[in-house]
Amino acid sequence: SSGSDENDVVVIGGGPGGYVAAIKAAQLGLKTTCIEKRGTLGGTCLNVGCIPSKALLHSSHMYHEAQHSFASHGVKFSSVEVDLPAMMGQKDKAVANLTRGIEGLFKKNKVNYVKGYGKFLSPSEVSVDTVEGGNTVVKGKNIIIATGSDVKSLPGLTIDEKRIVSSTGALALTEVPKKLVVIGAGYIGLEMGSVWGRLGSEVTVVEFGPDIVPAMDGEVRKQFQRSLEKQKMKFMLKTKVVSVETVGNGVKLTLEPAAGGDQTTLEADVVLVSAGRIPFTSGLGLDKIGVETDKAGRILVNERFVTNVPGVHAIGDVIPGPMLAHKAEEDGVACVEFIAGKEGHVDYDLVPGVVYTHPEVASVGKTEEQVKALGVDYRVGKFPFLANSRAKAIDDAEGIVKVLAEKETDKILGVHIMSPNAGELIHEAVLALHYGASSEDIARTCHAHPTMSEALKEAAMATYDKPIHI
Ligand code: FAD
Repeated sequence: SSGSDENDVVVIGGGPGGYVAAIKAAQLGLKTTCIEKRGTLGGTCLNVGCIPSKALLHSSHMYHEAQHSFASHGVKFSSVEVDLPAMMGQKDKAVANLTRGIEGLFKKNKVNYVKGYGKFLSPSEVSVDTVEGGNTVVKGKNIIIATGSDVKSLPGLTIDEKRIVSSTGALALTEVPKKLVVIGAGYIGLEMGSVWGRLGSEVTVVEFGPDIVPAMDGEVRKQFQRSLEKQKMKFMLKTKVVSVETVGNGVKLTLEPAAGGDQTTLEADVVLVSAGRIPFTSGLGLDKIGVETDKAGRILVNERFVTNVPGVHAIGDVIPGPMLAHKAEEDGVACVEFIAGKEGHVDYDLVPGVVYTHPEVASVGKTEEQVKALGVDYRVGKFPFLANSRAKAIDDAEGIVKVLAEKETDKILGVHIMSPNAGELIHEAVLALHYGASSEDIARTCHAHPTMSEALKEAAMATYDKPIHI
């Protein structure tokens, strides 16, 4: 079906970048085919990333609350236990429903879907080894590479997805490990560490750098780390992993201080390797058509998402920028708008970042460290959730809002929130930054009471005046 007739747009990869680009292209009237090798749509995010991790974060949080919070709310029962297969089943059901949902959206928007592994024959022809075992050639005036990213392993270590796992294995463990060691204190490691910690694992996070989630505002990060430590997560920062070997039924890690020094060992039942992700382009035949990449293997594009090869575009995790699903989606829409002769735009300074632990941490714009480095005079407004009535009412009041605004103009430069549901609360700030709002704009906007969002209003007030409730 896709073989001989030429497409306006061919998308390689059906993740949040690729499938959104394909739907948008079809909506703009372009004849579109999307090629995906996995057998299901949604990419890393839907199949082995954002969605299954959030399913398990929610389920494990419910268990944790049942154990530690329900009684103080007057909800008592004699025992509570984890049914891990059922928990995994609910996660798998959510994933299956959502991937089928995207197939439905493809049909609705008349996106042609080819299941198979794509590789370039020329800048306008992609050969696909189909999932069914055949081969077909898909032609397009424009090709969009949206092949995403893959787990980065560490030298001398073999991920078996049973005892030495990537995030993919950590989303599908068949029993709760007694001891879990997480290598890498980025958001993926902390989220998966939280899941298993809540279900009963002793979790130790080993990190080479001096800080967990280094991109986070320093002050918020300190509170966040304390919060995770209260949840019994242990941190070994400035620590290098020298080797990881399976021994008997377990795993032995050899560690040494990042700055050099005596080695120590650490035992674990399961080790999660979450030390970053790398762009995925293997088997794609980039060299065949001469597409340029940087040292990290990321495909280089101009501001219209076009590579050095005319007609060949790239978006999402496979190009430079934050490796996040919503960023990939924005890339996809803008890329296709350019192809359709319209103007596309992504503001990379305003891509929100969220860590979906409990409490969550969400941020947009600049950290205090970044503002300082810019050398602009600024003000800081803070408000703790301990003084927020809704948070107190539900007895879930750990966290803070921090607003950074330019001193002279009061223009908001960055907002950082640590709280339950911070990932939802942040969007008011994202919108404010998009509109170039001042902190007074937020402070003078009527917020419903009692809501967690009032904490943002008060923090905004605190940047140029006094907050009311503290
Ligand atoms: P991908 O989602 O990686 O999709 C690329 C697709 O292309 C894949 O399905 C792959 O099979 C296919 N493909 C590759 N090569 C070929 C080929 N040659 N032919 C055909 N098909 C091919 N981001 C967030 O924003 N929020 C989160 O909460 C979040 N949580 C995460 C949790 C985990 C555990 C992980 C691993 C990631 C998480 N991410 C999260 C990151 C997010 O998953 C990625 O940023 C996002 O999936 C990138 O989208 P993409 O479309 O660029 O690539």
